[in-house]
Amino acid sequence: MEQGLPYQNGRIGTEGGVMLNIYMGYSKDSGSAEAACLIFAPTAKVAKKLARPIVESWFGGDFFDVRVNRLRHAEHLRGQMKQAEPHAIESPDTCPRCEIWGHEPMEDGQCCENCYDWD
Ligand SMILES: [Zn+2]
Repeated sequence: MEQGLPYQNGRIGTEGGVMLNIYMGYSKDSGSAEAACLIFAPTAKVAKKLARPIVESWFGGDFFDVRVNRLRHAEHLRGQMKQAEPHAIESPDTCPRCEIWGHEPMEDGQCCENCYDWD
């Protein structure tokens, strides 16, 4: 939806001039493999604020259990943006084969580069 927004040095430019980074939010105790949300935010602080209610709804827990990691090579995730301002996506589109998100999809759309059979 927001593929037209400029992408530079791992950040997405929006009309208001705010640059958004891409983050993965998850529970430190449960790990990012268990469940993770996708966040578009200008800073890690804002990302954590957006991730907190989602991670808490999954696991309970408290604020200090919420972690966010910036994804620096994730231009393909721009396509999942729903609006040109900070927001979190609780259930990002996942790879049809490994059901993990975050890795770049292969051109045929059958799987991602992480689980592609390179042989
Ligand atoms: Zn995959």
